[in-house]
Amino acid sequence: MWYHSTQQPDQQVPLKEAILRSLPADNGLYMPEEIRPLDDDFWHRWREMSFAEIGTHVAQAFFGDDVPAEELRRMVEETLCFDAPLVQLAPGDFVLELFHGPTLAFKDFGARFMARLMAYLTREDGRELTVLVATSGDTGGAVASAFYQVPGTRVIILFPKGKVSPLQEKQLTTLGHNITAIEIDGTFDDCQRLVKSAFLDARLSHDLNLTSANSINLARLVPQSFYYFHSSRMLPTGVDPAFVVPSGNFGNLTAGLLAQRLGLRVKKWIAATNRNDVVPAYLRSGSYETRPSIATLSNAMDVGAPSNFVRMQYLFGDDWQRMAAQIEGFSFDDEQTRAAIREVKSLYQYEIDPHGAVGWLAAKKWRANNPGHPTIVLETAHPAKFLEVMEAELGAGSIEIPERLACLADRPSQAHALGTDEASFHAWLRR
Ligand SMILES: *Cc1c(COP(=O)(O)O)cnc(C)c1O
Repeated sequence: MWYHSTQQPDQQVPLKEAILRSLPADNGLYMPEEIRPLDDDFWHRWREMSFAEIGTHVAQAFFGDDVPAEELRRMVEETLCFDAPLVQLAPGDFVLELFHGPTLAFKDFGARFMARLMAYLTREDGRELTVLVATSGDTGGAVASAFYQVPGTRVIILFPKGKVSPLQEKQLTTLGHNITAIEIDGTFDDCQRLVKSAFLDARLSHDLNLTSANSINLARLVPQSFYYFHSSRMLPTGVDPAFVVPSGNFGNLTAGLLAQRLGLRVKKWIAATNRNDVVPAYLRSGSYETRPSIATLSNAMDVGAPSNFVRMQYLFGDDWQRMAAQIEGFSFDDEQTRAAIREVKSLYQYEIDPHGAVGWLAAKKWRANNPGHPTIVLETAHPAKFLEVMEAELGAGSIEIPERLACLADRPSQAHALGTDEASFHAWLRR
C-alpha cells in the first residue's frame, strides 16, 4: 500500500518512508492511500476474538501489504502485554481503563507497537536510528519505555520545564542507556516546534537518521484504534457507544475515526478538552483558531495547536458540517475537573484521574441531551500519575501507587537544560 501527505494526496511514499520520516516535507501528516472496511469474516467473528486477534486484523488493514501477517501478529501480541478493562460506573456510564501498560497511560499502546514496527522496517539498515519526541506529559515516558535498550536506537525526549508532573518527569529522566531527556525552558508548543524544525532541516534529519515518535506518526495511531473495537463489543449487540475522548493532540480521537472507517459502528464522538478548547470551539463555530497553550491540571491535554487536526479535516473532506455532525466538543476548567474527581469518588468509589475526569464531565453533559445512550469514557492515565491533584481532592493516602511507579522515586534524574532557540537545539543535536 502507498501512503501520502494530507496536503498532497498525489505524492505517494512507501510504508518505510511514512513511518520513519513521520512528517512529510509539506507539513501535512501521512495517511494510508485507502482505508477499506474489514471483511465479513471479521465481522462474523470479532465478538469472540482475543484482543490480539482483533488488533492483528486492524493492523493488517493498514500495514498488511508490507509486513507479513505472522510478524504483525507478533508485534500486536508484544504490544498488548496488558489488558484494557471496561468498568461500568453506573448504567450506561462506562470507563475504559487504558492505563494498565508499563507507564500507566494509553500511550503505551502506540509506543510499543511503533517501536516494534520501526525495528522491523530498519532491521537491514545497519545504522543507528535517532527517535526525537516532544512530550507534554505521557508521550515521553511511553516512548522511552517502549524503546528502552532496543538495539540500534537512541531516543531524545523534549519536555517543558516545570510543566509535567514529578512522576512523569521521573519516567523521562531516570532510564539512561539509550534514552536522553532535554528540559526546555518553554511550553509544550515550543518543544513541538523544535522537534518539527529538526525534521524540516533535511541535512540534520538525514545525518542523524531522525525519526519521530509523537502522535503524528501513523504507527502510533493504528494500535490506538484496537481498543475501540475491543470495548465496543462488550456492550450488548446492536448498541453503538458514544466514545468520549479526553484530547490534546487528537491522536486518540483520530485513531477512533480510523476504527470507524474500518466499519466500527459508533453513535457519536465526543471530544473532551480542558481550557485548551480549540477543537470544541471549531466544532461550534466552523472557524479554527490555534492559540498558545494554557497550563491545566490535565497537563497531557495542554495543546493549543493540535497536530492531528489536519488528519481529522482530511477524513471529513475539509467539511466542517460533516465533522460537526459526528463529533461534539466540550471543555471544562480546573475547578470543574476537581469537582468531578470528588463526585466520581463519592458516587462510585472510583478514582478517576484529571484527564478521565474531563471526559466524564463531557459524557455526563452529552447523556443529559441523549438519554439512554451509553457512553464509554477513555480513562487515559492511572490516577497515581497525578498524585498531588488526587490527594488534594480525595485526601492523603487515597491513591494506591502501583509498584512500577513507586520504585521510580528513588532513582536519580538526569536531564539536559536548553532554551527555545532552534539553532542551539540543532547544534546540541549535532554534538
Ligand atoms: C496524551 C494524553 C492525552 C491526549 O491524547 P491525544 O491523543 O494527544 O489527544 C490525554 N490523556 C493523557 C493521560 C495523555 O497522556
